[in-house]
Amino acid sequence: MALLDISVLGAPILRRETEPVLQMTSELRQLVTDMFDTMYAAKGIGLAAPQVGRSERIAVIDLEKSPITLINPVITMRSGRSKREEGCLSIPDIHFEVERAAKVVVEARDVDMNPITFDGADLFGTCLQHEIDHLHGRLFLDHLSILKRRQAMREWDEQKDDFPDLLRRLTPEVIARLQAEDDELDDDAPAHHRTDVR
Ligand SMILES: [Zn+2]
Repeated sequence: MALLDISVLGAPILRRETEPVLQMTSELRQLVTDMFDTMYAAKGIGLAAPQVGRSERIAVIDLEKSPITLINPVITMRSGRSKREEGCLSIPDIHFEVERAAKVVVEARDVDMNPITFDGADLFGTCLQHEIDHLHGRLFLDHLSILKRRQAMREWDEQKDDFPDLLRRLTPEVIARLQAEDDELDDDAPAHHRTDVR
């Protein structure tokens, strides 16, 4: 199992446009596997390639034991508006309510490059939009009002020194702490009641 370092807010890679995947390779399959491992270790429910320093248009999502790989995903339909609290593995411990489309249809390729389509609403819909944003250099903070974004940046300024080189390293100590927090959450609510998007 390979855990990848997660780039945090301020890392230029998070703001770059990704490149579509033209052909699946064994190296990219390994990247997908490592992204899942990293996401699970970090207790996230979604992770996009730029967050692990890569520029391929790839994201992974797993809300509750149903792993989804999105290669070159495109939102083909949006409807309604809804608000949900979001967080991000690249902006740890900062959470704000974000307004997005209530429902989306996403067309993508799976890890075998077969076409797949998802209808996403609720948490899944939010997660799809959050991860696809990452693939175009956008972060959930971009959807906030100027005031809320300033508040988020103030909160970030207080903790950014915890991430030398703008990297979040999943050391055994970090993983143990995340696991302990997760166990505490599990006592309160089943995973599918969580509102946290990563
Ligand atoms: Zn994110």
